[in-house]
Amino acid sequence: MTAKRWRNWARTEQVTPVRVERPASGDEVVDAIARARADGVPVKAIGAGHSFTGIAVAPGVQLDLTDLAGLTAVDASTGLVTLAAGTRLRDASALLHEHGLAFENLGDIDVQSISGAVSTGTHGTGRAFGGLATQLRAVTLATADGRLMPISATENAELWPAARLGLGALGVLVDLAVQTVPAFVLAADEHPEPLDAVLDDWPHRSAQADHVEFYWFPHTRFALTRNNTRLPADALRTPVGPVKRWLDDELLGNGLYEVLCRIGSIAPGTIPAFNRLASGVAFTRQVADYSHRVFASERRVRFREMEYSVPLDAVASVMRDLDRVIEQNGWRISFPIEVRATAADDVWLSTAHGRESSYIAVHRYHREDARDYLAAAEAILRAHDGRPHWGKLHTRSAADLRPAYPRFDDFVAVRDRLDPDRVFTNDYLDRVLGA
Ligand SMILES: Cc1cc2nc3c(=O)[nH]c(=O)nc-3n(C[C@H](O)[C@H](O)[C@H](O)COP(=O)(O)OP(=O)(O)OC[C@H]3O[C@@H](n4cnc5c(N)ncnc54)[C@H](O)[C@@H]3O)c2cc1C
Repeated sequence: MTAKRWRNWARTEQVTPVRVERPASGDEVVDAIARARADGVPVKAIGAGHSFTGIAVAPGVQLDLTDLAGLTAVDASTGLVTLAAGTRLRDASALLHEHGLAFENLGDIDVQSISGAVSTGTHGTGRAFGGLATQLRAVTLATADGRLMPISATENAELWPAARLGLGALGVLVDLAVQTVPAFVLAADEHPEPLDAVLDDWPHRSAQADHVEFYWFPHTRFALTRNNTRLPADALRTPVGPVKRWLDDELLGNGLYEVLCRIGSIAPGTIPAFNRLASGVAFTRQVADYSHRVFASERRVRFREMEYSVPLDAVASVMRDLDRVIEQNGWRISFPIEVRATAADDVWLSTAHGRESSYIAVHRYHREDARDYLAAAEAILRAHDGRPHWGKLHTRSAADLRPAYPRFDDFVAVRDRLDPDRVFTNDYLDRVLGA
């Protein structure tokens, strides 16, 4: 296929690949890898291009997995399902729902591919729940030497803690077995609360709720809290009607928000007043619906994002430091700072490896220069023992990531074994893992 210029969602990365291939089976993925090797160019699968970093940049052969999608096996009695690697999370949720199943947890959006999401450590919120990679039970990996390798806790088990969150550095995922749960309803309660109370209560509050997060709009003293409670599938649902959904998601959440951000980028002095409005009554709502319709929402206002995991109880200190640095520099920040929490896990490159984690995400509208703000935020997050999300902006490299991950060198050893010739690398992977 003739290669067109590829850009990621955030417009932070672009590339024109040597060529694009659209394999529709594991064997076709293996053939595409062999052809790339024969031509002496690297090869990389892409998902939905929703990483802010250059992790998905494919200057050689870009594998578009649109034709490698769908639910290929379902065991409704155990909830174990197999998804083809290019399946978008939204499509997967709809397919699972037909079988009375659901993802255990999801992040804020669901347009990503299952492979892209797990490969970067995508996560939602909930102290009892890990990121998406923890929901995996097995994968099939197309390797640099032309094999379709099954990897799980029982097959090629020494590769499992690396392969379930592999940054796209180990090979091309062809299918993924996911442990799902019976479909359930989420009751969401969103309302503003005083920021200081939320910060001081975060360790306790995040332990009490099933899924809790909050958004702090800089220049205000309020946090918009979102508390999602898990209920059985037959619980009373009170979904948002089409008119209210359009009003909330399209008009207020995207359309009007874009206008306000644009005005704020031209006239920054307006931002504090807009933020007070945004964190106030406009976003108070209660809704109960099937989980996948509540976890994820539309994000059409483009932004730049950095997100770090920090130890669970570091949130209040980080947020107060961020508040101070924003005011000291006189920055006017229209986008909220988002805070979430997850369980610890044992995945080698998971940002929650070995510790219960809070996640702090800072954003800036895409028409504004984000550099100084993100640099200041990164200094604060690093000082709190932070680990950057692999798909979101950061400046870390292998030398300073190594001490943050106890199994970093084990991962690099797996990479050396599976991809000694660096068939799957790109500039980003060379930076964060070493060349
Ligand atoms: C608006 C927005 C909201 C977001 N919300 C969240 C959130 O709530 N929580 C969160 O944690 N993150 C979030 N993210 C980040 C996002 O989930 C990750 O960046 C994710 O990787 C994007 O998935 P993708 O399908 O677009 O993958 P891409 O960005 O296209 O690719 C990511 C990586 O996966 C690799 N990859 C893709 N397919 C394969 C395959 N078959 N085999 C091997 N490697 C593969 C690519 O090579 C690349 O290394 C958000 C991003 C945006 C833009």
